[in-house]
Amino acid sequence: MPKFTRIADDTVQSSTKVSLSGPRSGVAKAIIAAAAIGGVLLAGASCTTNPYTGETQFAAYSDDQLSQLSAQAWQELKTETPTLSSGAQYQRVQRVWKRVAAATPKAGEAWDVQVFDSDQVNAFVMPGNRVGVYTGLLNIVENDDQLAAVLGHEVAHAIYRHANQRATRAAAASAAVQIGGSVLAGGSNGAVSADQVSALGSVAANLGVVLPYSRNAELEADLRGVDYMHGAGYDADAAVRLWEVMEAAGGQRTADFLSTHPNPQYRREQIRQYIQQKGY
Ligand SMILES: [Zn+2]
Repeated sequence: MPKFTRIADDTVQSSTKVSLSGPRSGVAKAIIAAAAIGGVLLAGASCTTNPYTGETQFAAYSDDQLSQLSAQAWQELKTETPTLSSGAQYQRVQRVWKRVAAATPKAGEAWDVQVFDSDQVNAFVMPGNRVGVYTGLLNIVENDDQLAAVLGHEVAHAIYRHANQRATRAAAASAAVQIGGSVLAGGSNGAVSADQVSALGSVAANLGVVLPYSRNAELEADLRGVDYMHGAGYDADAAVRLWEVMEAAGGQRTADFLSTHPNPQYRREQIRQYIQQKGY
């Protein structure tokens, strides 16, 4: 039983973090739904090779599954928040994005890159090559190099399949909770029907947006992101300065990718050392 208790605590922690910093409502519902779907999806979990990095990863979802599951959440975001389709801010994001993306293992792939008209200082990536940048962030970055650091960070999350890692972790935790629940309920069968799975799927996909990534995932995105923006010809030092700017923005306007990290100085220092090591 201690094992179940520990995993359940993880779930509660995630839930708390999200409700404090997540941009969207209904997160608790998403986590409960994920608890129901988790056990079923884990049955199909397997080790797969990441085609972009060659790494072997344990994944509860295929990339196609996650992309399909994310489609509805992405649509909802685009419905809830106005998006730009022209103008200087729109052009700027598209221009810098194209350059950074072309310097990554995902070069040549189609992306849906949206600029959300909102003062949130934030950017995110969703499975299925979907990227969102808020105008609040555009108003704060000092130059295109800093924007390139943000976009490099986001594309790195996609390339390293961090959403899949996160969803797999959530599924594992919820499966354990479900099994624990069955045991407590006297071993009754907690089976979930196929209909329930598909209904819950889109909710579970919100995990691709609202749950924080692990610190390791954030650090990996930071460093690989620097590789990409440097490869695209942007100034790598801007990645260090970016986090100073983000930190100065602070308070309620802090980005999700800062909220998961208790020590921005440490993060900045890691990036600075990495740039030095690589000779960028
Ligand atoms: Zn991140």
